[in-house]
Amino acid sequence: MKSYQELADKWIKGNGEEYLDIDPADSSHVLAKIKIYTKDDVKASIEKAMSKFEEWAKLPGPKRGAILLKAGELMEQEAQEFALLMTLEEGKTLKDSMFEVIRSYNLLKFYGALAFKISGKTLPSADMNTRIFTVKEPLGVVAAITPWNFPLSIPIWKIAPALASGNTVVLKPASKTPLMVAKLLDILSRAALPEGVVNLVVGKGSEIGDLIVSDDNITAVSFTGSTEIGQRIYRLIGSKNRMTRIQLELGGKNALYVDKSADLNLATELAVRGAFSLTGQSCTATSRLIVHKAVYEEFRHKLLERVKRWKVGPGTEDVDMGPVVDKSQFDKDLQYIEYGKSAGAKLIYGGNILSERGYFLEPTIFENVTLDMRLFKEEIFGPVLSVTEAKDLDEAIRLVNAVDYGHTAGIVATDVRAINEFISRVEAGVIKVNKPTIGLELQAPFGGFKNSGATTWKEMGEEALEFYTREKTIYEGW
Ligand code: NAP
Repeated sequence: MKSYQELADKWIKGNGEEYLDIDPADSSHVLAKIKIYTKDDVKASIEKAMSKFEEWAKLPGPKRGAILLKAGELMEQEAQEFALLMTLEEGKTLKDSMFEVIRSYNLLKFYGALAFKISGKTLPSADMNTRIFTVKEPLGVVAAITPWNFPLSIPIWKIAPALASGNTVVLKPASKTPLMVAKLLDILSRAALPEGVVNLVVGKGSEIGDLIVSDDNITAVSFTGSTEIGQRIYRLIGSKNRMTRIQLELGGKNALYVDKSADLNLATELAVRGAFSLTGQSCTATSRLIVHKAVYEEFRHKLLERVKRWKVGPGTEDVDMGPVVDKSQFDKDLQYIEYGKSAGAKLIYGGNILSERGYFLEPTIFENVTLDMRLFKEEIFGPVLSVTEAKDLDEAIRLVNAVDYGHTAGIVATDVRAINEFISRVEAGVIKVNKPTIGLELQAPFGGFKNSGATTWKEMGEEALEFYTREKTIYEGW
């Protein structure tokens, strides 16, 4: 069994208690013992980031960018190793891990290149002998708090634009996936990122989260995770005397609508991939299917035929879906399945535990899910799909919007009117047409509406740089 103890000891330097980082496909496989950071360790990490800020901010953008470009190259060379660790630590299939690793090194390269051109603008002045121009400056020390489901790409889509802009970083990854970030630090260090520019803190968010967020030396907090914790951080920052900048990307309850004009083979493929890839553990996963009544029976038949061929097993094997990430998420999924049965939804596929050795669950589908049910409204974050029939397009759009979340939403249709009604009336940060609700491209801005995000700042794309910079306006006369 593979051990990553050396990696952990080199990069995770807490002085607190230890916990075990476990392979979700085999709960007897310990990847490493992780030493958590005490409150003093957290303060020391923030101080270190403060002490390095001036030096890093002064380094010209192209030089900062060259380090990110180099890190991207190194990660590309070691992509297989990154993907294997991701599968062993988080559980996703090797193919899905490789997708994430590719996106990760491309993110490093993308923001590396953008560091060459971060700039302000020049404006005409109404006065003679005067010019007005703006410059973009870094903010200072920024905190990035990240979840476990994209354990490499989310930390990178925060720290790469932060570093490109000249900020130093305190990074708190999810407790379930600290090794992935340790490996990232290793690459950054080999790409010649000065020590102390990115500072890792590992420990339970419930114990050290407040300390990071409320520290006056932290000028901005970029958080991705559940809506519950995001709202807590929002309140905490609101109660501070300092104007800490905040970016929140939160939970989802994404719907895919299958219109009566849809290509049903395509719809089936998009529904199954969107719901069960990554074990349903994606903020953009298809968690609800809304199906036009004119095609309901035919689509239902195709869906059940397709899901039977969805292979579940360890992510290191040739499968479509790996285990659930850990016992707590596994228990949560099972509770929702029991709840669904007792609430009157009809279980039409799955619902069973597949192995006691790791956290393997069958892909699960409920139909007759109504608006009042928790299955319809609450984020489960597992391989559990709800199906609801709609009598027409208007009702479908109402159903898509009838939740507190607004992350992604999809429509499968050929009718241009239906597609355009959907695009303009659905409240979601990302709309997919004849595409799965999952899957984002790094050059496009991304951010949820409603309780899926604070809608303050976008992530990814060039837009991500806005969050990590402030603009100074200069009036220069002579
Ligand atoms: P989570 O429980 O909210 O945790 C996210 C991060 O916050 C972890 O690092 C966690 O640390 C930390 N944390 C926990 N309590 C905290 C506190 N009081 N103060 C500060 N930080 C705290 O979410 P998760 O289970 O890791 O991830 C799943 C959630 O993330 C889902 O809701 C999913 O939809 C969402 N997500 C959203 C996006 C997006 O872009 N919108 C992308 C991916 C995932 P610990 O690990 O130590 O608890």
